[in-house]
Amino acid sequence: MKNEDKNKFSECLSPMQLVELDACTRCGECLKYCPVQDVTGNPSISPPEKIRIFREFIKATEGLKARLFGPGELDRRLLEDFTKAVYECTTCGACGQNCTVGIFTQRMWPMMRKEMVRRGLGPIGVQTKAPGVIADKGNPYDKPASERFAPWFPEWVSVADEAEVAYYAGCTGCYSAQPMVRGDVLVLHAMGDPFTMLSAEEEVCCGFPLFIAGQHDMLEDLVRRLVEGYKAKGVKTLVCSCPCCVNIMSRDWPVFYGRELPFRIRHITQQVVESLERGKLQVKRAFDERVIYHDPCYLSRGVGVIEEPRKVLRSIPGIEVLEFDRHGSNSKCCGAGGAARKVYQENAVAMGRMTIDEAVQKGADRLILSCPACYAQVNEAMEEHDKKIVITDIMELFASLLEDKNGDR
Ligand code: SF4
Ligand code: SF4
Repeated sequence: MKNEDKNKFSECLSPMQLVELDACTRCGECLKYCPVQDVTGNPSISPPEKIRIFREFIKATEGLKARLFGPGELDRRLLEDFTKAVYECTTCGACGQNCTVGIFTQRMWPMMRKEMVRRGLGPIGVQTKAPGVIADKGNPYDKPASERFAPWFPEWVSVADEAEVAYYAGCTGCYSAQPMVRGDVLVLHAMGDPFTMLSAEEEVCCGFPLFIAGQHDMLEDLVRRLVEGYKAKGVKTLVCSCPCCVNIMSRDWPVFYGRELPFRIRHITQQVVESLERGKLQVKRAFDERVIYHDPCYLSRGVGVIEEPRKVLRSIPGIEVLEFDRHGSNSKCCGAGGAARKVYQENAVAMGRMTIDEAVQKGADRLILSCPACYAQVNEAMEEHDKKIVITDIMELFASLLEDKNGDR
């Protein structure tokens, strides 16, 4: 980067994002959809306000006056307040989904965070430790690799050394949502085709927690290690159930890898739907419950996987699938997203409780999730909450219905 570019706030944004920044009319439509606004009422995190302040930063450092007389001094307090606002957002993207001029905010906010990291202002709280912890342990939870698969992996399931299909379990699933990853593996096993995995030491973080917090330095290395690992095993399809992993793998891995990936990325529900349609999987047991499915922001809005989870659920005899008022591409964040959960814990719990309350109010017997972060967050939100509902991961449920009463598949 040239010296004069170092002070540029526009450095982190693509030309398209600069156009988007200019396009905000401050109409306020997005405010109706922001879950953080719902629970805090704090206008400083609102999309038009973040956009307005960032435009001010650009103007002060790159506008005509700055070019003629040199960049103006930026108010330190304003920079710090903006940093706090951009990290309090869950990056759920609901504002962008409902933006009257189509600003892709789910991508805009992480790039603004990247700029604040470059200036030494971000990230906030525990997230500052993430690069060091990931470099040391391979995951952001500071857990040993020896505990990555050991406590939950079904010992009777065999993993091939090489195969066309590979499964990436992901850090959050392995350490915080084990019924989910166990369900994934049981379902993959039931499909009957061999699948492979990297070892617990090789399966490092996908990079999402760093990407979303604006800490991009290690990403190229992590992505290259993972992609080369799967390539060496002859993988043609990489299956994953975590929406954040699937999102970064599909959208950003090719960028950090520097070229097209040598395999395709599939969410596990896409793989299951294909197997159901080919008759390779069969649900053996009925399930007479009313369930409600919560779309994870990075799966529905992020990569458009909306119909497949519903097809999986509707393949179960006896089930009734209810919908949240806001669902599909307009789903409402449960509070787990954007690396904000551990820093703004009260907000996250309040958002999680709104998800629980609506599920209960709709008369659901069970809340079905398909994201390890949602799983951990909504469970946390239910602690000491006056409303309760059974929470189950979609593959945890599906796997349990693939065996008949005698345990035969
Ligand atoms: S991304 Fe979500 S949390 Fe962030 S400002 Fe938009 S609606 Fe609010
Ligand atoms: S809906 Fe779009 S244009 Fe309107 S205030 Fe929000 S970000 Fe700006």
